[in-house]
Amino acid sequence: HDEQAAAKAAAATADSGAPTIFDKIINKEIPSSIVYEDEKVLAFRDINPQAPVHVLVIPKVRDGLTELAKAEARHGEILGQLLYAARIVAEKEGILDGFRVVINSGPSACQSVYHLHLHVLGGRQMNWPPG
Ligand code: C5P
Repeated sequence: HDEQAAAKAAAATADSGAPTIFDKIINKEIPSSIVYEDEKVLAFRDINPQAPVHVLVIPKVRDGLTELAKAEARHGEILGQLLYAARIVAEKEGILDGFRVVINSGPSACQSVYHLHLHVLGGRQMNWPPG
């Protein structure tokens, strides 16, 4: 439907390595609703939520992680920190009993922002398979 078509259109641009809107969120140049923050990780509410809880978890320094496809062995520590931060977010949001963590990597997965991010989704019954 319309929203899926819009997501596909937004995802049509592949990884260019250019700065993204998330830099402005990290630098607090544009406001966001922050759920969790530490030295390495920022978690904030998605502006277009797909569930009652929809939080994005991102590394504060992108360091080449435009998409999961670009991950290298040296990124192992931050990747683990991001996944653990997703769990902290789920606890804070009261959805530890059931939540989903999604990473869209690349145009075919409808990635639209090329700064690695985990979607933490919950607060409703999540269905499977995803679209
Ligand atoms: O995985 P994907 O790249 O498609 O997800 C990007 C997400 O970033 C979208 O869910 C979109 O709603 C969100 N977004 C946001 N704030 C922005 C720009 C995008 O929360 N300013």
